[in-house]
Amino acid sequence: MPKFFSTVTVVMSNDELKDAYRQYKDRALVMGDQVISYAAFLKAPYLNVFVDMKCLNCHAELREHFGDYGLDMEDYSLPFPIDWCPECGLQHLVPKDIYHKLVINVFK
Ligand SMILES: [Zn+2]
Repeated sequence: MPKFFSTVTVVMSNDELKDAYRQYKDRALVMGDQVISYAAFLKAPYLNVFVDMKCLNCHAELREHFGDYGLDMEDYSLPFPIDWCPECGLQHLVPKDIYHKLVINVFK
């Protein structure tokens, strides 16, 4: 689990899990990735782990699935994920904990 920000682990119902699998499958098909089976999907790391993200530019907040971030962080040894904000289109989306640390430092 990440050191510099907190994640949210939720208990997911069967319907939510199936929904998450459908979303994963749709995205994998769009990206041309190989699709894993539902059984394999249920064993994926961080399946029910989310992270609250906040935009440094427009301050939009959203809860994102931690799965892809977690894998990227391992692959590239990233301390925290940074993502594109769906509201303002800038790559300013960071975990809310990081946002607070950065914003507090800027305004001190
Ligand atoms: Zn934004």
